[in-house]
Amino acid sequence: MQLYKLLFCCLVLSTITLKAQQPKKLSSSEIHNEIQKLNFLGNVLFVAAHPDDENTRLISYLANEVKAHTTYLSITRGDGGQNLIGTEFKELLGVLRTQELLAARNVDGGYQRFTRAVDFGFSKHPDETFDIWNKEEVLGDVVWTIRKLRPDVIINRFDHRTPGSTHGHHTGSAMLSVEAFDLAKDDTKYPEQLRYIQPWTPKRLFFNTSWWFYGSREKFEEADKSNLIGMDIGVFYPELGLSNNEIAAASRSQHLCQGFGQMGSRGSETEYVEFLKGSKPKNNNDIFEGINTTWTRVKGGKAIGEILNKIEADFNFTNPSVHIPELLQAYKLLQNVEDAFWRERKLKELENVILACSGIYLEAGTQQGSASPGSTVKVYLEAVNRSSINAKLNAISVNQNLANLNTSVSLDNNQKKTFEIEVSLPNNSKYTAPYWLLSKGSLGMYKVNDQELIGKPETPTALKAYFNLSINGTDLTIEKPVVYHFSKPDKGEQYEPFVVLPVATASFKDEVILFADKNPQEVTVFIKAGKDNLNGTIALNAPKGWLVSAAQDFTISQKGEAVSLQFTVTPTINESVGELTPVLTASGQTYNQSLTEIDYDHIPKQSVLLPAQSKVVRLDIKKEGENIGYIVGAGDNVPQSLTQIGYNVNILALENIENASDLAQFDGIVMGIRAYNVLNDLKFKQGILLEYVANGGTMIVQYNTANRWASQFENIAPYPITISRDRVTDENAAVRFLNPEHPVLNKPNKILQADFNNWIQERGLYFPNEWSKEFTPILGMNDTGEALTQGSLLVAKYGKGYYIYTGLSFFRELPAGVPGAYKLFANMLSLGKGKE
Ligand SMILES: [Zn+2]
Repeated sequence: MQLYKLLFCCLVLSTITLKAQQPKKLSSSEIHNEIQKLNFLGNVLFVAAHPDDENTRLISYLANEVKAHTTYLSITRGDGGQNLIGTEFKELLGVLRTQELLAARNVDGGYQRFTRAVDFGFSKHPDETFDIWNKEEVLGDVVWTIRKLRPDVIINRFDHRTPGSTHGHHTGSAMLSVEAFDLAKDDTKYPEQLRYIQPWTPKRLFFNTSWWFYGSREKFEEADKSNLIGMDIGVFYPELGLSNNEIAAASRSQHLCQGFGQMGSRGSETEYVEFLKGSKPKNNNDIFEGINTTWTRVKGGKAIGEILNKIEADFNFTNPSVHIPELLQAYKLLQNVEDAFWRERKLKELENVILACSGIYLEAGTQQGSASPGSTVKVYLEAVNRSSINAKLNAISVNQNLANLNTSVSLDNNQKKTFEIEVSLPNNSKYTAPYWLLSKGSLGMYKVNDQELIGKPETPTALKAYFNLSINGTDLTIEKPVVYHFSKPDKGEQYEPFVVLPVATASFKDEVILFADKNPQEVTVFIKAGKDNLNGTIALNAPKGWLVSAAQDFTISQKGEAVSLQFTVTPTINESVGELTPVLTASGQTYNQSLTEIDYDHIPKQSVLLPAQSKVVRLDIKKEGENIGYIVGAGDNVPQSLTQIGYNVNILALENIENASDLAQFDGIVMGIRAYNVLNDLKFKQGILLEYVANGGTMIVQYNTANRWASQFENIAPYPITISRDRVTDENAAVRFLNPEHPVLNKPNKILQADFNNWIQERGLYFPNEWSKEFTPILGMNDTGEALTQGSLLVAKYGKGYYIYTGLSFFRELPAGVPGAYKLFANMLSLGKGKE
């Protein structure tokens, strides 16, 4: 029994820290757990919109207590969120959050799927969401997921009946799930999918409700629960040594870029699901009621179940290899099962159990993280049998006959065998960067050309090794991904994906380059080699009317090394916006992708290919004043953007602001986003700042969230103002000039309607909805079907200077190189200066 305890300890550690590439090495209690899962034939699909929406308590409970095959379908990859741990945004953030979801599932035992929908940012209403997503396509992807995974039970995280009450993506995810529930069984809907899969009828649909949806805990206590099923998700798993909530918290803590690291908890706790659709469970206590989840569900499964249930009941924890003969018997029976869905799924699970019980370890690794098409890769193979079971390794192959090795060796107890195979990657090998980013999509949808890839969490590995074994005379072929296996002195043993990447990639130093006058600028391009001794030429394509210096040759001696080259770029005389793209030629081929690596300890390293480009903007901008003081709030790139158009920006530390006369050197003071939300000491400096304004200065306050002040502010403005939750999320919403004669719309730049074209993501957020008469509202705007907001830009004269409050999203528009946003910002900073 001592051994028992020891095994449990190891398990706690391994379950919580394993990265996806790392081979799982099961202890006997984990093997027993896998056998229990093998004996449960039932599927759950949990549906929500973003990475982090999923209820890990419920997913972990369904996977570990019920033993169901439980999948989280996240409609998006969370591209539009915040990043608390690094600089990845948009597509790159989507890649990071995809891997965080996989890491979470690795902990809680669930599986992961996606659709092609993009998380394009906040959306008030599912109608707007469906306008930007291609609703037909996303719905098709949900139907595809249901047909592919055959869930008996579907559980929505959000309520489909309350559009407008939460993020439009949230309600949208539930509405799609409700629709898809009916469509998946209908063979006239999305018939093109039926080339690959069959229609499927899920048994029932639930909504994972909680007190939150009832307004308060008290109201939920009193509510009629006859339509709800409660599950005690606080269960303790002796075999794992963990409470379900401890697993759920460890799973949720993988969402590090969202800042969701959290403590585990123990003890009884109830989760509720509300019945929505399908066949209603009679007793309301089991979501699988009336669904056969035993082996008799499958034709030919009865005999298999008899064998496997007996092993489960009589499991030998000290010598699991004694079960091999019966496991192989079940294996042979399973190979003859007609139902391909259960046969394939359960063969894989059973193979893992057989290998684990016999202590057979198989690995295929490389000593390089990447290779380019046409190159050769050495694959190192290891096979060892750590039991007295009679095992033989007949042959090993890589991919479909890319390389074969006739091994014909017997695997004697604890005698390791190693082999090497040289694999030549075909010239037409596909790159294995995230597949959904390889073709250019739209604002709302990723483009994926291969139907079989749709929904997969990540790109399938480039190389797979197949170990052809005989165990006790029964043949099995075991598939193992070829992984990059190495060690780091400061981190120990490491496993990373092995990826196929281009011979050469290029990237620009700056994503957006502003030309505030007609002078040429030096533009820096980095070239990275995907092989040794790379020679080539690189030229830049420029938009019409722009000039670029001549193509240049380059030589890079070592794979992985990068060189930087400078090009002189001369803008047009007049305003224009366009893209620079590289044309890189090496070994007779052209390349135009950039490579970005995402490397964190909690996820496998990711190599992302995107079209290499830099946005160039020729601005004809006038400005008064030069020296700007910037007080950083929650963090934004506005200072860098202002520097790009010629301002001298000084970052001000609060403790150095001692009196108004020190500030007089600045032509404007700008508060970074959410400064009043995050800076505790700002209240001590507010008087000085307002005195600076009274003396003739200009102060610009960018958006703050309502009622979340870092400390009690009497007034964030010199006159009363009330911040509301009003926002305009449509970046194309019409803009009305409420006071067309106001200097902020006229000097020194004349602001036109065209200056509100090509904004990104939104117009702005947290606009004031009440203000005193000293403020002049400048702009009116609203989302479809909503009242006109007038608080996006408010200007007040105070003493000799100007105070401006604006919720317009300058922090997004300026770094994205939106010309109109620059002009408006320059006008704000110019108020009261020059010729009035
Ligand atoms: Zn969400």
